[in-house]
Amino acid sequence: MANLLEGRLIAEEIKEGLRRQIQGLAVKPVLASLLAGNNAGAETYVRSQKKTAESIGIEYKLHKLDADIKEDDLIELIKRLNSDKSVNGIIVQMPLPNGIDYRKISRCIIPQKDVEGMHPDNLGKLLFGKATILPCTPAAVMELLRVTGLDLYGKEVVVVGHSEIVGKPLSLLLLEKFATVTVAHIGTSQAGKLQDHIRRAEVLIVAVGKAGLIRGEWIKDGAIVIDVGINRVGDKIVGDVEFEAAERRAAYITPVPGGVGPLTVTMLMRNLIEAVRLQL
Ligand code: NAD
Repeated sequence: MANLLEGRLIAEEIKEGLRRQIQGLAVKPVLASLLAGNNAGAETYVRSQKKTAESIGIEYKLHKLDADIKEDDLIELIKRLNSDKSVNGIIVQMPLPNGIDYRKISRCIIPQKDVEGMHPDNLGKLLFGKATILPCTPAAVMELLRVTGLDLYGKEVVVVGHSEIVGKPLSLLLLEKFATVTVAHIGTSQAGKLQDHIRRAEVLIVAVGKAGLIRGEWIKDGAIVIDVGINRVGDKIVGDVEFEAAERRAAYITPVPGGVGPLTVTMLMRNLIEAVRLQL
């Protein structure tokens, strides 16, 4: 039976460290959060960010924006927040209203306030192994792997999902540790090769968004399984991996919910403290 990698508990330890660092700062750090329209998922995420921020001494300033806000007006607001010295970090909640280009928006936030680590400057630093602000979910996955004590050097790591926010930046962080990284995606599945890759994985990280995509019987004995997926099935939230069957084979596995999610929010706060340091 696998050990549970409970992100919630690891997050508590990290938050304690952040709380102490914040107490040592001259001013209370401020995170500006921009939420356009009414999306239930985004609102849940905002509530969790606010709760986490306030629990460690960060001021969370929510800007609620109309669902029909124009791209130029959003950019204008970001520019104002960029030059506002009382604001240390800016996060724009997804999804953005139709007609607003996420890439354009993420380039508008100055890199020193980009707490999601998605500005091209921050992603460029990641490529060079010099990142100061890391994308939150990949950083959360690396924290979970750190807790297992596994040395990633030369290990077979399979990442399923190649999105800009999870799979791609995560594969760079894993390469920094000299893991042998395979990134699988929809093309891998359509070529009928997904399970061949997964059977080889000593570490498996899945970020797709399809409940039950990864069959428990595919998991290599003793593997570490990190399930990033969040899927609503009836009134339950589940990941992308068939948990019960996978748990019987894996050495470590993350629960969903309570695995990657709580750590992702904590990484956002860690980035804000890093942003404060960069601004000093
Ligand atoms: P995305 O839609 O941007 O990317 C999905 C990826 O899955 C793509 O690379 C796609 O090629 C791949 N894919 C789709 N179908 C596939 C299949 N049948 N076989 C193999 N690969 C397939 O998704 P995203 O934004 O990276 O999010 C992925 C999941 O992770 C979602 O469930 C999301 O809610 C969750 N998520 C969780 C957190 C967290 O903190 N826990 C953070 C971000 C995303």
